[in-house]
Amino acid sequence: MSRKACVIGAGPNGLAAAIVLAKAGMQVDVLEAESTPGGAARTLELTLPGFQHDFGSAVYPLGAGSPFFSSLPLVNHGLEWIHSPAAVAHPLDDGTAVMLERDLGETRDSLGSDGPAWDKLMRPFVERWTEFAPEILRPVPFIPRHPWLTALFGKVALQPARIVAHRFRNERTRALFAGLAAHSFLSLDEPLSAAFAILLAVPAHAVGWPIPRGGAQSITNALCGFLATLGSNVTTSSPVHSLAALANYDLLLCDLTPRQLVKVAGQRLSDSYKRRLGRYRYGAGAFKVDYALSAPIPWKAPGCLRAATVHLGGSLEEIAASEKAVRIGQHADRPFVLLAQPSLFDSSRAPAGKHTAWAYCHVPNASRVNMLEKLEGQIERFAPGFRDCILARRVFSPADLESMDANLVGGDIAGGTMDIRQFLFRPTWRHYATSARDIYICSASTPPGGGVHGMCGYHAANMALSRWRGR
Ligand SMILES: Cc1cc2nc3c(=O)[nH]c(=O)nc-3n(C[C@H](O)[C@H](O)[C@H](O)COP(=O)(O)OP(=O)(O)OC[C@H]3O[C@@H](n4cnc5c(N)ncnc54)[C@H](O)[C@@H]3O)c2cc1C
Repeated sequence: MSRKACVIGAGPNGLAAAIVLAKAGMQVDVLEAESTPGGAARTLELTLPGFQHDFGSAVYPLGAGSPFFSSLPLVNHGLEWIHSPAAVAHPLDDGTAVMLERDLGETRDSLGSDGPAWDKLMRPFVERWTEFAPEILRPVPFIPRHPWLTALFGKVALQPARIVAHRFRNERTRALFAGLAAHSFLSLDEPLSAAFAILLAVPAHAVGWPIPRGGAQSITNALCGFLATLGSNVTTSSPVHSLAALANYDLLLCDLTPRQLVKVAGQRLSDSYKRRLGRYRYGAGAFKVDYALSAPIPWKAPGCLRAATVHLGGSLEEIAASEKAVRIGQHADRPFVLLAQPSLFDSSRAPAGKHTAWAYCHVPNASRVNMLEKLEGQIERFAPGFRDCILARRVFSPADLESMDANLVGGDIAGGTMDIRQFLFRPTWRHYATSARDIYICSASTPPGGGVHGMCGYHAANMALSRWRGR
């Protein structure tokens, strides 16, 4: 029997899957549609010469906290995490910022009377991150390995973020929690939205919320570098249009979302499985802007200069209104904006004295509305004079994002909605397996979902290997 596997797509999950297969002794070919590997973990000169921008992901609490990435010698392949002094800054209209400090104790102290409640919510998971991370970054287990920890998480995580935020008395703390929960692309009144706040705050305290020196591409290059030591390489500019052309492989691992899987594997999949994939729902899109700047962003709140990530949306009520609008297909007047300012902490991103910034807001899937004015309005609100620093900008509508990475369907950066149904059955009850016994899906459309952590690829490849060996 030949021992050959092909991975379609060199995003972080495709590369993770390839590494697991190659480590198990398989000969692995990775085929990538774009001219550079990485998918939504690429760094490109998107504005002016010398300005390096992250096309997709920019900040990595789950990348640094990934049990799989942590098991690989990525440091030997150039990956260096840089930690800004604080994890996240959340500026408010009074000219101050509420801070998510890396240290849980410092955050507790800075949150005043809400400090003990924050500590009580986060500490059990922070202290047991090495047990907690593998437990939550996989399909929901029938029998948890750490039942008490999982039950404790489930009790809070299944609730809407707005309800959990009311454990805090101060508007400032509620705003901080809302900004974290808004990464979910869910309405903050929906079950499970609280999970995202915890899943971001906990690794921020446990392992940090770092950026990689040189940008997202350094993560990809490190994964590719390690893969090369296992004898496998990525072939770029090689879009796969049909799996029929890959008949001589034992295993096919697809770093694709359900819609694409049906396109390339259509004839190989059963009708009932295809119907189930057809019911898979994509989430809201992103409207993204990359900036080349002449100076650091002139924040009103000095604390914002201590964090690589800044959440712009004001109060819990405002953020909730913004996310609710998007969830019902509307565009927020004052959108919640996620902003990264990596060049403050990594001088390799821009020419000396110059800076980069990365910002996006949520919009309905495949929206064509130009949100530039509103997005920059939110930055100006907390950093008057921001527009005077802009040397160049590059705007990405949802369609622009999808044109550079086919997995970003309608601008959905998470590989599909993460509501309760798609949290449990992602993309179907089979998870990574499909109706064809040699074809597996390993993208962010499988558990545990979006983010650069490689855990979808890791679990998919392990399932594929164990079933293949069992045959
Ligand atoms: C704007 C934006 C901001 C984000 N911010 C963050 C962040 O700060 N932190 C974080 O952790 N995550 C973030 N994410 C999410 C994260 O980047 C994704 O969840 C992650 O990249 C998913 O990895 P993946 O391997 O499943 O898919 P992708 O990274 O999308 O990779 C899929 C790959 O498959 C290739 N492909 C598709 N079709 C074919 C085909 N037919 N043939 C061959 N190749 C094909 C694509 O070209 C691509 O390279 C962000 C994403 C975006 C877009």
